[in-house]
Amino acid sequence: MVATLVLEINPESPDLEKIRFAARVIREGGLVAFPTETVYGLGANALDEAAVQRIFQVKNRPMDNPLIVHIADRDDVHLLAETVPAQAERLIETFWPGPLTLLLPKSELVPAVTTAGLATVAVRMPSHPIAQSLIREADVPVAAPSANLAGRPSPTSARHVWEDLSGKIEILIDGGEVGYGVESTVLDVTSDPPVLLRPGPITVTELRRVLGRVEVHPIARAEMPVEAAIAKAPGMKYRHYAPRAELVLVEGPPQAVVAKIRELAAGYDGEGKRVGIMAVAETAAEYGLALVKVVGERRNPRTIAKGLFRTLREFDAENVNVILAEGVEPTGIGLAIMNRLRKAAANIVRAG
Ligand code: AMP
Ligand code: MG
Repeated sequence: MVATLVLEINPESPDLEKIRFAARVIREGGLVAFPTETVYGLGANALDEAAVQRIFQVKNRPMDNPLIVHIADRDDVHLLAETVPAQAERLIETFWPGPLTLLLPKSELVPAVTTAGLATVAVRMPSHPIAQSLIREADVPVAAPSANLAGRPSPTSARHVWEDLSGKIEILIDGGEVGYGVESTVLDVTSDPPVLLRPGPITVTELRRVLGRVEVHPIARAEMPVEAAIAKAPGMKYRHYAPRAELVLVEGPPQAVVAKIRELAAGYDGEGKRVGIMAVAETAAEYGLALVKVVGERRNPRTIAKGLFRTLREFDAENVNVILAEGVEPTGIGLAIMNRLRKAAANIVRAG
C-alpha cells in the first residue's frame, strides 16, 4: 500500500506548484494519474523500466499490451521514433495536440517493457492543459495507459480512478471530467496506406481528409478476433472496458433494438435477474419500469461517447446482473463507441 495523495487542479489555470510536485514524483519513478482530453491516464517515466513495470503491476495489465507514450512537444516524437514518415508529419501538424496516437518505428531510447517488446512505439501529444503541463514539467516522455484496473471501463473522472487505484499510486490529479470520454484513435503509420487499429475521437473521415487512403483493421471494428490481427495489435485481443454485470449489446435498426431489448429484459426479469438498460435519450421512455440510464443522444453521438464508461460504472454501483445496451450506427465517433461496447459485451444480439 502507498498513500495516494489527491491533488485538485483547475484545468483552466493549472497551479504550477502542484504540477511541479507531481512532475517530480514522475521523474523519481513514481506513478501519477492525471486527466487528459480522452480519459484519465496512469503516468510514469516512459524511459524508466522499473516505473513502467509498476504500471503493469498496479493495473494488473498483461505484459504483452504496450503503452502509449505521451509528449508535450511535437519535436519530441523524434526522440522516440527512429523515423517519422511524411504521412505521419502531416497528421502531427493537423491533429496534435489531440486524441490521435501514431505507431512509429521505435528508437533505441525506448525500453522494451514500454512497447511490450514490439519494434513500434505508440506516441501521442495530449491537448489537455494539465496533461501538457505535467509532461512538460516532468521533462521526460510519459507512458500512460488508461488509469483503470485492466479489463474495467476506462475512467472519465478522478472518482473512477480512486475506485480502481487508491492505495496503489502516489498521486491522483483531480482535474474534473474529461472531454471526449473514449480513448485516442490509434493509427499505424508504419504501413502504406496507414491502418486504423483503434477508433477514437479523430474519425476515419477526418484521417482520410488528410491522408487520402486509410485502412480500417477488422480489430478496430471489433468484429471478432482475427488471428493475424493479434500480431499487429497485441493488446487488442483482451476483453476490455467491461462492467461487472453481464453486458448484452443489441445491434440493429433503432426500433428493432427497442423491441428486442424489451423482450430480453422480460426474459431476464423472469429469471429473477436485476436488469439495467443503457439507452439513448430518444428511446429511453420505451422501457417502462426497468432501471434505465440515458447514456447520451442518438442525434449527437459525441454525447454517447462521453457518457459511455461512466454509465457502465453506474450500473455496477446499482448491482445489476445484466446490462442491455442499445447499439449505435458504427460510423464517425459511433465506430469508437461500438468498438468499446463490442469488446465489453459478453453477448452480441442482432435485432431486425
Ligand atoms: P490504453 O492502455 O487503454 O491506453 O490503450 C493503449 C492501446 O494502444 C492498447 O490497445 C495497445 O494495444 C495499443 N498500443 C500501444 N502501443 C502499441 C504498439 N506499439 N503496437 C500496437 N498497439 C499498440
Ligand atoms: Mg485501457
